[in-house]
Amino acid sequence: MCRHLGWLGEPVAIASLVLDPPCGLRVQSYAPRRQKHGLINADGWGVGFYPSDLPGNGPCRWRSASPLWGDVSFASVSPALRSNCIVAAVRSATVGMPIEASASAPFSDGTWLLSHNGVVDRGVLPVSPAAESTVDSAMLAALIFDRGPENLGDTIAEVGAADPRARLNIMAANGSRLMATTWGDTLSMLRRSDGVVLASEPYDDHPDWQDIPDRHLVDVSAGQVTLTPLKGTS
Ligand code: GLN
Repeated sequence: MCRHLGWLGEPVAIASLVLDPPCGLRVQSYAPRRQKHGLINADGWGVGFYPSDLPGNGPCRWRSASPLWGDVSFASVSPALRSNCIVAAVRSATVGMPIEASASAPFSDGTWLLSHNGVVDRGVLPVSPAAESTVDSAMLAALIFDRGPENLGDTIAEVGAADPRARLNIMAANGSRLMATTWGDTLSMLRRSDGVVLASEPYDDHPDWQDIPDRHLVDVSAGQVTLTPLKGTS
């Protein structure tokens, strides 16, 4: 499983969420603390954000097929990149999947950003010309974009029913809304005075981190957080 993180709140530097925390995505790329599948996340990384100084602009993305820990350019530039809405990920490729920048999350339809922690049988997903890569996560992203990301919970429940072995932790954002699902892997939330962090695992040992139960949807917008069980969950 890969590891991902989402932010919605006041504008912050990307480095402050991804590189600086003691157990942030940079450290999670070689020493994740809660990862159940895979040991390291060395097959690429990506960051997407809505630039504060380009209001109304779609998301910008920076993705790579190399390990995050070795990227000196990102380390140099990311303290200067600020946004109110960020989705970032480090990747541990599923066996048989391509390793290329276009297979690294976040995926985008030009409006939304989306990351997937997990695996899904590509045979249960429609083939879409909009998929950015043949990786399962890109095909799943194309389906979620096609169905409308606001229907994320229903789409995940449907894909989970079609492939009972799938793991479907999603992180999605559009600049003013941040959503995440839990379906087979970990997710934690930190409510800060300046915004909300959702992450596969806590980036530090602050006591305010909350674990999100499995098979739930977290929806964050306008400072409100709602937690809903997904369909098919008793
Ligand atoms: N299946 C996806 C990939 O190969 C995600 C893998 C993961 O979550 N580790 O990239």
